Amino acid sequence: MTRVVIALGANLGDRGSTLRAAARAIAALPGVRPIASSSEVESVAVTLDGPDAAKPRYRNAVVVVDTDLEPDELLDALHGIEDEHGRTRTVRWGDRTLDLDVIAVDDRHIDTATLTVPHPRAHERAFVLAPWADADPDAVLPGRGPIVALLAALGDDTERVDEPRLFDAIAPAAGAAS
Ligand code: AMP
Repeated sequence: MTRVVIALGANLGDRGSTLRAAARAIAALPGVRPIASSSEVESVAVTLDGPDAAKPRYRNAVVVVDTDLEPDELLDALHGIEDEHGRTRTVRWGDRTLDLDVIAVDDRHIDTATLTVPHPRAHERAFVLAPWADADPDAVLPGRGPIVALLAALGDDTERVDEPRLFDAIAPAAGAAS
């Protein structure tokens, strides 16, 4: 069983609904158990040329799950969820309806053709660190340190959206013990 941190982002369409639907789909994957989640934050779009205030703003969130899937199996499942939510992949770092990134897998370091973990840019992205700290304030980014310290050093330029945490919006299954 591994603990995995997943970052969700959207800047097209009904971004909040997309993030909530994606969180629901992640929680429902076979072999995945939801552990913690953030509420949503908003921030300016970042392109290869840097921040671009003319582009639609991003909504981001983070979920933490336990899973017995291998990291590459989980990544495949996340790509399936991106596709279900109509992601069109035209330009690298272009606008997208849904982007799912694996941020951390326990304290493992993975570097394959399809997966780099910890995510190589997580430590410099407030839109990852701020919602992650909301979901799990004591978390440590492997090789980098406590995420609240990383966020403080970086500066938090995200705005919190007044919505429930993503997993809190998932109705318990009918008949489930409360
Ligand atoms: P992107 O444009 O950010 O969605 O890039 C997606 C590609 O990045 C996928 O084809 C993945 O195989 C690759 N990738 C490498 N490391 C990661 C990671 N930690 N999380 C998600 N995708 C990753």
